[in-house]
Amino acid sequence: MNEGKIFLSPPHMGGNEQHYVDEAFKTNWIAPLGANVDHFEQKMKYYTKAEHALALNSGTAAIHLALITLGVTKGDTVFCSTLTFAASANPIVYVGAEPVFIDSDEKSWNMCPIALQIAMEDAVKKNRLPKAVIVVHLLGLAADLDAIQSICQKYDVPLIEDAAESLGSTYKNKMTGTFGEMGIYSFNGNKIITTSGGGMLLSKKESTRRKAFKFATQAKEDAMFYLHEKIGYNYRLSNVLAGIGIGQIEVLDSHIAKRQAIFKRYEAAFAEIDGVSMMPVLAQTVPNCWLSAIRLDFEKIAVSTMEIAQRMEAVGIEVRMMWNPLHLQPSFAGAACYQANERNVSEQLFQEVLCLPSGSSMSESQQQDVIEKLLTQMMAEYIV
Ligand SMILES: *Cc1c(COP(=O)(O)O)cnc(C)c1O
Repeated sequence: MNEGKIFLSPPHMGGNEQHYVDEAFKTNWIAPLGANVDHFEQKMKYYTKAEHALALNSGTAAIHLALITLGVTKGDTVFCSTLTFAASANPIVYVGAEPVFIDSDEKSWNMCPIALQIAMEDAVKKNRLPKAVIVVHLLGLAADLDAIQSICQKYDVPLIEDAAESLGSTYKNKMTGTFGEMGIYSFNGNKIITTSGGGMLLSKKESTRRKAFKFATQAKEDAMFYLHEKIGYNYRLSNVLAGIGIGQIEVLDSHIAKRQAIFKRYEAAFAEIDGVSMMPVLAQTVPNCWLSAIRLDFEKIAVSTMEIAQRMEAVGIEVRMMWNPLHLQPSFAGAACYQANERNVSEQLFQEVLCLPSGSSMSESQQQDVIEKLLTQMMAEYIV
């Protein structure tokens, strides 16, 4: 399959995954429960220091259950970062609520606290405070959590962290995903660790986990016969896939170190290039560097990010444009987006940012190849 192609973020197995998968076969726990699922949750709690963890079959399911356990329903609004993947906000629509998007800021590329404050003030005026705020830690970069949390506390709105991309990233030495009332991780194939498909819901309260567990298992009541008082879902993680997750947690720190080294090498390679800057890292945060991204200055480089991505694809290197902001998506047509200034920062980042191959299995010589080809593309269009 695509021999020799350099991908953005391919799966990278550590070696022990197969062993844990075999355990599931040996014990015949080929089910959405079993020892691997319990073990995976324990390992994840230990790693993140989260109070409670529930293993699920996707990050999207985790966001959906977070909203359900908060009682978000038809007629409610939920605030969400606009510069993110659609999966951050789709569950808002699943529960019949309305998404309201919040712009990014220049410092973090994540949710702008000033825009959030403006949106809250407007919500107070309309007597329609949101039922939740979903903050995303884009590309593994931590959002400005102190500022965002204090706004949420002031208006008494629960915070959900979409940490799908930021497992292992820290803010003031604490894991992203563990600040809010709830947090979620994804183990999709392209994430920093993968179970091929999977997710995790973290919560501060045990009662939240219990509630979410019930909804994840068809909302079956505790009775001798089948009794359902609510509509449930089939969202638990398979015991086979949890085996992959246990093996992946064992190599998570080494994957993070490798991705951070990749970021450093890009940083060094582009340091002298006028018109190219690296993604920003907030003070007192450590990113997992899930993806390394660069920002182009079109006053210096006369070629669009789309054009560069296409040319790199033609030479076998996967380079991606930044997420297209959700307030621009036809699927969310009509949704509001609050911003701090005249200029919408997320729209600008969408135009100017490129995500570069960042997989922990990429060799130094492969990265050198990426850098050389990128420089060739960009320098050919350099404005002097
Ligand atoms: C991947 C991702 C998700 C969804 O996770 P799945 O496990 O693919 O459902 C949600 N939010 C963000 C920001 C993501 O990158």
